[in-house]
Amino acid sequence: MIDREALRQLAELEVTPAAAVSFYFQPQPAQNKSHRDEAILVKDLVRDALRASEHEGANGAARADLERIVELAENLHGNHARAKAVFACAAKGIWQEFDLPARLPRTRLIVNSRFHLAPLAAMLDSTDKRCCVVLLDRERARIFDLHQGQINERAAIYEEAPRRVRSDGFGGYEAGHRERHVENEAMRHFKTIAEMLQAQALAGSFDVLLIGCHAENRSEIEPHLPAPVKQRLLGWFITDPAVATLEQVRETAERTLAEVRLGEQEAMVRELIGEASRNGRGSLGLKHVLASLERGEVHRLLLGESFAATVAECSNCRHLDTRMVRACAICGHATREVNDVTDALVLRAIRDGVELVHIAGDDQFERAGNIGALLRFRADQNTAQKLAG
Ligand SMILES: [Zn+2]
Repeated sequence: MIDREALRQLAELEVTPAAAVSFYFQPQPAQNKSHRDEAILVKDLVRDALRASEHEGANGAARADLERIVELAENLHGNHARAKAVFACAAKGIWQEFDLPARLPRTRLIVNSRFHLAPLAAMLDSTDKRCCVVLLDRERARIFDLHQGQINERAAIYEEAPRRVRSDGFGGYEAGHRERHVENEAMRHFKTIAEMLQAQALAGSFDVLLIGCHAENRSEIEPHLPAPVKQRLLGWFITDPAVATLEQVRETAERTLAEVRLGEQEAMVRELIGEASRNGRGSLGLKHVLASLERGEVHRLLLGESFAATVAECSNCRHLDTRMVRACAICGHATREVNDVTDALVLRAIRDGVELVHIAGDDQFERAGNIGALLRFRADQNTAQKLAG
């Protein structure tokens, strides 16, 4: 699991010569590639990284870490449900591994003076929900927690229904009575589970909820759900709660969550482009985003997965400039070239408490600059409002 503090510490690291190694491993679906191919891919990436670092005069400062990554890749025995991130810098005594949900765009290896943290930071954003999955039938409830791609079955409740009576009894009276009793038991069971979910929802133990059941039970369950549960309910799926496996539940839930995440990201991009086009609470393009960050206006930073840019960074006040100026426009100190501005942006975002959202495969966003920010306010307009008020 990732937390903000671990991320901040990694983001603060800076090392010369460039020997901060960031490795992201995205497993391939088992049927497409063998484990062997994945290990070869990692070896190729390591060879390229070594060549590049020698070319830049870093004299293989990262060699030991890169060799360790080759070893690690050979031992990633096809655990295809999980991705992995490794951040290593032997010179600073750092080797950190994180297991991640398998939704990285691809396997990557980067050697630079800072760690490449944007994909990791993006997993902490607001679209990453703690999901509760409940499987319900008339007798049982199975409750699962799903977060960052990891699932566990938290509780399994089984309330055996009274035995159904086949005989007619006295004029059908007894059988009918027992059938009603079974009905009542099932309804009471749905109600008990719904109330338990309400208590957990109000206690903040999950953000969103999915319910899996037999098709014919949905209309029986639905009326028992209290408002706080309904508000968090993302959707229903059809399953047999008695036999569904952990892996089936995880797959179904992950698919639904991915759709929801995509919808939220598309909505953010639409909002950003709309706001920016009417000079509202949106900044588009690196130059405007940098200005908004320096004014402390940014609420969410949207970063295209393929976004890359070289900037000048002040060695003193950390001011970033899209023009390759020698001296800082703010304090006059010497600048240095930063060949991946996203690393500097992630550090800034973490320090300032700005939420980072990774946008992948959105053409409209890419055309609009592939980087943007949703703003809390706009400093210029705020002043005007204050004067008016
Ligand atoms: Zn400066």
